[in-house]
Amino acid sequence: MAAQILDGKVMSEKLRREIGERVLCLKREYGVVPGLAVILVGNDPASEIYVRNKEKGCLEAGMHSETVRMPAETQQEDLEREIDRLNRDPRIHGILVQLPLPEHLDEAAALARILPEKDVDGFHLLNAGKLMTGGEGVIPCTPRGALYMIQQTGVDLTGKEAVVIGRSNIVGKPMAMLLLRENCTVTLCHSRTKQLAEHTRRADILVAAVGRAGFVTADMVKPGAIVIDVGINRVDGKVRGDVDFDAVCGVASWITPVPGGVGKMTITMLLQNTLEAAERTARRG
Ligand code: NAD
Repeated sequence: MAAQILDGKVMSEKLRREIGERVLCLKREYGVVPGLAVILVGNDPASEIYVRNKEKGCLEAGMHSETVRMPAETQQEDLEREIDRLNRDPRIHGILVQLPLPEHLDEAAALARILPEKDVDGFHLLNAGKLMTGGEGVIPCTPRGALYMIQQTGVDLTGKEAVVIGRSNIVGKPMAMLLLRENCTVTLCHSRTKQLAEHTRRADILVAAVGRAGFVTADMVKPGAIVIDVGINRVDGKVRGDVDFDAVCGVASWITPVPGGVGKMTITMLLQNTLEAAERTARRG
């Protein structure tokens, strides 16, 4: 039987309606409008598209959006001065530095400069540490969206075998931590993993975050598994995931498509993180 599709577009639309309602409540009760600032250094065309989608998402949800465009030759101290300004601005609840930054800039130092409570990407060391130690921090958007999709299957995750392929700081590692928090038994695979398929074939939940089109083939998947495809790969002008979708559909019980899967959830989770940051600020008074 063909796998059921976890539809990121449908889930995202539902979540964005709920976010819009909570934004209205926050305005009514506290007079607070959640605000997201995005800093874009240089003019990378892919980053431009992402930033425009973030602005659009904010405005549709009734949030305040501010984009700070800085030239490619911006110096570290100018970037950090801008982050400091946004840290102090009470209308801004979330700050995001669009990555990648031009090579001469220190990415880690820039991310560390953002106040942890305004770090809506969840990349600050304090938020990464909280995720690791079970604290209440900001969770990175893509893994948060992927976990939400897994939860929509209604499957009890406790004791399940989860395998994540990819160990990046923005997807693989936080994904593994989230699944661990849900009481899965987690295996984190990467480019040096030996006999990868032996690991993946044990997975009740398989998350692919590799960056190689069609990397996960049907023979790597346990029958009945939940397969989450985080990959976004451009092949002949088309967007393809890390999973051989058509073949894996015949083996898995649930699967996310690409496009229309995890990618749809990422900006939605950014809006959710910004809303929650604003709610925390408003309640603190
Ligand atoms: P990355 O390049 O930082 O990490 C890729 C990981 O894959 C590495 O940890 C590496 O060890 C692993 N890997 C590479 N070759 C492997 C192999 N042969 N066997 C096993 N593991 C291997 O990438 P990333 O930033 O984590 O992104 C991964 C993918 O997810 C990319 O396609 C990216 O475009 C996509 N992505 C999507 C979203 C979204 O919104 N859906 C967000 C971020 C990234």
